[in-house]
Amino acid sequence: MNLSSLRQTVWGSVPDRDWASGSWQLKNRVRTLAALEACFPLTADERRGVAAAETAGGFEWGITPYYLALIDPADPRDPVRQQCVPSASESHVHPHDLVDPLGEDPKMPVPGLVHRYPDRVLLLLTDRCTVYCRFCPRRRLVGTEERQLREDELDAIVDYLRRTPAVREVIVSGGDPLVAGDRFLERVLTRLRAIPSIELLRIHTRMPVVCPQRITPSLARVLKKVQPLYVVTHFNHPYELSIEAKTACAVLADHGIPLANQSVLLAGVNTDPVILEALSRELLKVRVRPYYLHQGDLANGTEHFRTPLAAAVELVGALRGRLGGLGIPALIVDLPGGKGKVELCPDPVIERHGREVTFRAPLGGTARYVEPIATDLSCSTAAAVSERFRISREPAESPAIETLVPLRGAKA
Ligand code: SF4
Repeated sequence: MNLSSLRQTVWGSVPDRDWASGSWQLKNRVRTLAALEACFPLTADERRGVAAAETAGGFEWGITPYYLALIDPADPRDPVRQQCVPSASESHVHPHDLVDPLGEDPKMPVPGLVHRYPDRVLLLLTDRCTVYCRFCPRRRLVGTEERQLREDELDAIVDYLRRTPAVREVIVSGGDPLVAGDRFLERVLTRLRAIPSIELLRIHTRMPVVCPQRITPSLARVLKKVQPLYVVTHFNHPYELSIEAKTACAVLADHGIPLANQSVLLAGVNTDPVILEALSRELLKVRVRPYYLHQGDLANGTEHFRTPLAAAVELVGALRGRLGGLGIPALIVDLPGGKGKVELCPDPVIERHGREVTFRAPLGGTARYVEPIATDLSCSTAAAVSERFRISREPAESPAIETLVPLRGAKA
């Protein structure tokens, strides 16, 4: 076995069987300054960051041995290190930073359920994560109590969904929902699947990235039972696609679970077209479709990670012509205040003259496209499809939430 240098020097005596266990990784997370300093010398900025994270009101931290072992100890700007080791920059809260950047709190009809869009909800299964990402937009909630939904809270969620048939999809998130054990997860997913109006389930998780050992065949069987269910992973850098992470993705894909990935654009971590291209290529090889590339949200203490919008558009533009469409994620800004997502993309139109449109071509030069003179766009099946598949012609509007229930444990 080819051990990484940190695995060898810090955890060399740990048997492979323990190292390969998700629960061992979770139990042995590095959560003290002394344990972290035993891995590599910290910078003064990191030491101040850890001290700030450990004060009351600081953002929780904790790192699995597996994820730490991906770090190159000689590189203080290592991409994995920047994502998981606290830094002093997190204490700088800028005037435009927001506690609740996506306006989720006012959209909770019952505790643990965010209803922002008419057809889908976000279920916050737990406030626990295996590794607390330093760019986390939900830092006001995660790690506050380290608990999962109680049975009575789950009852209230199921009841709300039964009363709200416009909701067709449940996105199970958190925290990281895969921190929950298989049995609890199965119970929750089975209850959701039993709601007649719920067509689709989705799990958003960093687990294949930070603790791929948690992705076992028994977990995959639980997920397979409640299909259709998508798993959305959160890989941000190609170095995160280790052999273990690739195996975790293969376990899910081999059980027929469709996989997509959403990344966050993180300054100094993945803000280079070479890195983004490598990430997309590595993801596609393990059957994970690059789906979203998120512009950083305006979360408290995360400005040092955010990228100017023009630079973000340029980065995604650089992928066009180099990667097939399957490998190009949509660049998304999730608007502050829960106003929804917008997609940014480079505008390839140079000029228009009547029906003639001139494009900047990804393979060089320009190209002219001529639009049709007149086309009949009406479809004979539209009315029947609208009725048969419950598709409304009304524009999507944010659902009216009558009862606002503040989430317990939310940090102010
Ligand atoms: S896994 Fe998600 S919720 Fe947890 S710290 Fe990372 S970004 Fe935040």
